[in-house]
Amino acid sequence: MATSTTTNGSHSAEKKEIVIIGGGIIGATTAYFLTRHPAYSPSTHSITILEATGIASGASGKAGGLLALWAYPSSLVPLSFKLHKELAKEHDGANRWGYRALGVGQIECVGRKIGDSNVEGKGEEVKGVHDVNVGGGATGDGNVSLQKRSKDSYKRLQKMGLPDDLDWVSADAARGYEAMGSEKDTAQVHPYQFTTAMVELAKEKGAKVIIGRCTALDTTSKTVTYTSSSPGQPDTETRTIEATDIILTTGAWTPTILPSVPIGHTRAHSVVITPSRPVSAYALFTSISLPRDYKQNHKSRPMHVTPEIYARPFNSVYACGEGDHLVPLPATTADVEVDDSRCQDVIDYVSTISDELRDGKVEARQACYLPIVESGGGPLVGPTGHDGVWLAAGHTCWGIQNGPGTGKIMSEFVMDGKVTSAKNIGGLDPRRVL
Ligand SMILES: Cc1cc2nc3c(=O)[nH]c(=O)nc-3n(C[C@H](O)[C@H](O)[C@H](O)COP(=O)(O)OP(=O)(O)OC[C@H]3O[C@@H](n4cnc5c(N)ncnc54)[C@H](O)[C@@H]3O)c2cc1C
Repeated sequence: MATSTTTNGSHSAEKKEIVIIGGGIIGATTAYFLTRHPAYSPSTHSITILEATGIASGASGKAGGLLALWAYPSSLVPLSFKLHKELAKEHDGANRWGYRALGVGQIECVGRKIGDSNVEGKGEEVKGVHDVNVGGGATGDGNVSLQKRSKDSYKRLQKMGLPDDLDWVSADAARGYEAMGSEKDTAQVHPYQFTTAMVELAKEKGAKVIIGRCTALDTTSKTVTYTSSSPGQPDTETRTIEATDIILTTGAWTPTILPSVPIGHTRAHSVVITPSRPVSAYALFTSISLPRDYKQNHKSRPMHVTPEIYARPFNSVYACGEGDHLVPLPATTADVEVDDSRCQDVIDYVSTISDELRDGKVEARQACYLPIVESGGGPLVGPTGHDGVWLAAGHTCWGIQNGPGTGKIMSEFVMDGKVTSAKNIGGLDPRRVL
């Protein structure tokens, strides 16, 4: 089904009616960069995001938000990491979507009984711990370590490589630490705030949003049929839009619109916790052996778990657990089934290694679908082989990191017919697998 890229490219001066199907981070950044393309003018071109449920209602609103120069694929990562930094600078991302650099580490722990409190330096008298001035500097956030640790426990933890200011993982639980990234090559955003901000910024330059579910895509006539659920309109109202360019950014739902696209899905649960005190800026890839009492009460559960924990600005912590394939992909993001017991598992796991999380307030229990390219690799970004029909989906676990890079190259594909911002992007070409 391959045709040359140039059949999809066209001259930027011609009038373009662009429809982006899907309002996750990929649709949002694509709309943003189209509205910032030098050839774009709102009086000549139109850009419409068609979103079934709500902007960032899928994985893009429920992801961790880690950005890393060591992510994949290498053709997109450096561009996207740089664009994140530039977008934050231009639009006050630090305050608007929590952009900040942070440390990342892999931590090995033996979980404590959930009811146990944090008594450090077992067997030694824990006295004067609040007087010890180790690692007490302010973090990038302005958060200050409460300096809970004794000198001895600091020495032991330093030996295993644990940073001084990572004092919200219990010293009793930590067994080993390896840094995976520093403030130079890792950063984070709040994915929901970032995605919705991108859409707002695109709207400021003329992009439109329609809340409606695409029910059919005709790749020959380039028409999109959708059922509208806008306020005041009956749910069943069906409309059709004609377009010069259609960009599919529907994540895990992409095969429901274009069945030949080999994108699968994995459900993942996550929780958001307000910790009992502000915590320093770290993303942790954990490996936790659960305590004996947990094993006795949860015989069917794995006893070795690997939740990811991301401290976020504004006194918030996000944690996610393992994925599952227990329920099929629902019709829309509004129908995603949240299994409360899987959320509770994540809360229990992180509680075994952190008093601050155990004693915090759970703000959200949620689930979403990760889009996965079944033929391996991913994402798929570029022409589909149908003239004027484009694909930007299958971003696996790095869609937040790679959102701006994807949006930028999609804007060049559509407006210029070729990409100049990134090199060696042949591996992203959807026509390889369609
Ligand atoms: C638990 C978890 C943690 C993650 N953490 C990170 C991280 O730390 N860093 C990172 O870089 N990435 C992370 N990711 C990956 C990232 O979330 C995804 O790669 C990214 O959100 C995919 O974005 P998307 O826009 O392609 O898809 P989605 O966010 O799923 O958006 C697709 C949109 O399309 C809409 N849609 C679907 N069907 C239709 C239709 N028929 N008509 C109209 N609209 C439709 C949906 O409603 C949805 O809003 C994580 C993912 C998970 C699951």
